[in-house]
Amino acid sequence: MSKKYNPYDNFLEVLEKAAKMLGLEQRDYIALKYPERELKVSIPVEMDDGSVRVFEGYRVQHSTSRGPCKGGIRYHQDVDIDEVKALAAWMTFKCAVVNIPYGGGKGAVKVDPRELSKNELKRLTRRYTAMILPLIGPEKDIPAPDVNTNAEIMGWIMDTYSMFKGYAVPGVVTGKPIEIGGSLGRREATGRGVMLITLEILKRLGMPVKGTTIAIQGMGNVGGAAARLLYEKGCRIIAVSDVSGAIYNDEGLNINHVLEFLDGGKRLLKDYTAENVKHMSNRDLLTCDVDVLIPAALENQITEDIARDVKARVIVEGANGPTTVGADRILEERGIKVVPDILANAGGVVVSYFEWAQNLQYLTWDEDEINRSLEKIIIRAFNEVWNAAGSKNTTLRMGAYMVALDRLVKAKKIRGIFP
Ligand code: GLU
Repeated sequence: MSKKYNPYDNFLEVLEKAAKMLGLEQRDYIALKYPERELKVSIPVEMDDGSVRVFEGYRVQHSTSRGPCKGGIRYHQDVDIDEVKALAAWMTFKCAVVNIPYGGGKGAVKVDPRELSKNELKRLTRRYTAMILPLIGPEKDIPAPDVNTNAEIMGWIMDTYSMFKGYAVPGVVTGKPIEIGGSLGRREATGRGVMLITLEILKRLGMPVKGTTIAIQGMGNVGGAAARLLYEKGCRIIAVSDVSGAIYNDEGLNINHVLEFLDGGKRLLKDYTAENVKHMSNRDLLTCDVDVLIPAALENQITEDIARDVKARVIVEGANGPTTVGADRILEERGIKVVPDILANAGGVVVSYFEWAQNLQYLTWDEDEINRSLEKIIIRAFNEVWNAAGSKNTTLRMGAYMVALDRLVKAKKIRGIFP
């Protein structure tokens, strides 16, 4: 039987490879192989019918070398500690590659939130927040939305933390509703980053924007926003999917119509109908004949088996860890360009950084300023990664890890090892 896929092993393998390329010694980066802190909590929740259920939750802090930990909280029935560790480590590298002053962290609760009523979800969130309270705070660890969590949930986290403190602390969490200190532009920031990166790689490869064909796996916060923004730029989005399956139209889907139908996740694509729209499987979406493939759902989607059949010329990783190490090797051999997650989906955490900075200063920035600053940071990071990859004749993933690792190792060296 094959060993269960472990995303943390995936991270370690990539880290070792990047360290070797940079000519680092073990002592320079060994600490990055281990998360600084891991907390597991049991969360009792009183259900609406009077029964009590206990959910498992985690918060992992991978690194604080470059600043407080930063990273989302996901609610998913399949999460485990290895996944959260990997996600936390990827946050460390993501923040380093775009050069914002954070380390990396991640949290999760093992739950299918669709099975909970709104009040149950609220009680779960508040109790989880209370249990990770010793770890979080604007100066040490700042959560944000991730898979199956949203602004409303961030609002409950902000309120719970504030109740314990006795005053409002907006900077404890990002991705909040605008009314309580959320930032303009945050909701679609990850998708905007994916769009900016896609346009940039098309430019580098001499491919046109207008008419470029794209398939997107996932129509959540990331995939949905990326689809809309790329559609507005004139790309032809020919396939999109959600948990229920994929839809396809080789003339291009009407993305506004699709998003309106989905209504923020209230409906599923399996029920979508429109002229010339066909339904297909998730595998068919990942291997369909397009210029650009954007996996924007979960990790471990592009496996070796899928990688052999991918027809896209470019992959832009909207999700965290969608490509396995084995698949990555195959894509490289096949000459398919992969823009790695830590760069491609960094738009969200960049605008989280802006939100936190606004909160700490009790200021509000306008949306133009936010989008302009985001673009500047993303394009600068893209150029650095492109050049790093070019200088060693390697993949963009290696380029991104080298840029990030170099920053992390320097920070560690300057600070030294305590005591
Ligand atoms: N969950 C998002 C990510 O994986 C955003 C994290 C944040 O804004 O802190 O990048």
